[in-house]
Amino acid sequence: MTEQRRVIARILDAASDHPDVEELYRRASAVDPRISISTVYRTVKLFEDAGIITRHEFRDGRARYETIPDEHHDHLIDLRSGKVVEFRSEDIERLQERVAAELGFRLVDHRLELYGVPIAKKDGK
Ligand SMILES: [Zn+2]
Repeated sequence: MTEQRRVIARILDAASDHPDVEELYRRASAVDPRISISTVYRTVKLFEDAGIITRHEFRDGRARYETIPDEHHDHLIDLRSGKVVEFRSEDIERLQERVAAELGFRLVDHRLELYGVPIAKKDGK
């Protein structure tokens, strides 16, 4: 792996906010100014094809990336801020398996995205 790819891999590994290519480029070029945006594009494609990272499209038209986690999780997207919240619900996991089984399938994978807005507090705080 080239040094530039290693820098991008480290940034992806450290990120918890599912950055897009532009954001990855901003962080990578802060570490190594020689890294170009096309290198970032090529590298994420390479990592994606290799099954190291996964791509998300959270309805805002930009591809976002994260290192494939050891433990499965789902995502809730705050439509106001664009912030991505990770969660895992055993109830949902079980329910999905049950639905698949009822349809005659063994569930092997799923993607779940919830979209929400923060609930306004009554006291205005
Ligand atoms: Zn995630």
